[in-house]
Amino acid sequence: MDNFLEDRKSKLEIFKKKIRKKNIKNKKVDIPDGLFTKCSACQELIFNEDLLKNDIVCPKCHHHFRMSARERIKLVCDKNSFKELFKNIHTVNVLEFPDYLKKIENYQSKTNEVDAFIGGEAKINRIKVAIGVLDSYFMMGSMGNVVGEKVTRLIEYATDNNLPLVIFSASGGARMQEGIFSLMQMAKTSAALKYHHKKGLLYISVLTHPTTGGVAASFATLGDIIIGERKALIGFAGQRVIKETIKEDLPEGFQTAEFQLEKGFVDINVERKELKKTIQKILYIHKKVD
Ligand SMILES: [Zn+2]
Repeated sequence: MDNFLEDRKSKLEIFKKKIRKKNIKNKKVDIPDGLFTKCSACQELIFNEDLLKNDIVCPKCHHHFRMSARERIKLVCDKNSFKELFKNIHTVNVLEFPDYLKKIENYQSKTNEVDAFIGGEAKINRIKVAIGVLDSYFMMGSMGNVVGEKVTRLIEYATDNNLPLVIFSASGGARMQEGIFSLMQMAKTSAALKYHHKKGLLYISVLTHPTTGGVAASFATLGDIIIGERKALIGFAGQRVIKETIKEDLPEGFQTAEFQLEKGFVDINVERKELKKTIQKILYIHKKVD
């Protein structure tokens, strides 16, 4: 599932070549693995091209598949408007956690990203924004020093340049390999947001599947407006832990974006295809008039 778009596109190309070959030779063709994706919600087989055309949402049941950070930027930002910032911040194995750097390198080669967060400046419907996206394909979007530092710098960039800020979260929480240094990022990002807020600037936080742990307990839930993507898991601790702690059954739909909307934790619940339009509208309403 890593780098979903590229992977599916290359498999599609292979299939098309096979079809062409078939037409020439009129022989039976085996369908290669990965041409179709089985929807984990409705169990239907979906042709990957249809899935890509539909913003990686199941056309049959609207199940929202995970997206990489780059795919998310493509979905929301005006074409070619994204300029990446703070690219060259690298992880230091500060606690000398065994094999940590090797693990990081593995994820880097799998995803082609330096770490789990991409930030920069872009335009959404011609409105300039500072935008950042957590990538759940990179160590489950966990927040260590690099993620925390990049999020903080992006917030400070937005503050210094009087820009609205949009952050998409998808994270398992703080990165355990960096221990207390990971937890410190929660305070650091939150403090930076306070300065952004003091300047009267807008921060839209979009919670996508899954937003949990230290990210959910810091910058992800400090948005002036918090959007939950359809059926995203949003919470702090896992359901099993909560159930075992309180010794009670949890209500149906617990920790979904819909549940969090009902409880007032999320302001709007949006389908992926409505996401860009919704953000555009919010940015437009809050646009500063000189
Ligand atoms: Zn489906």
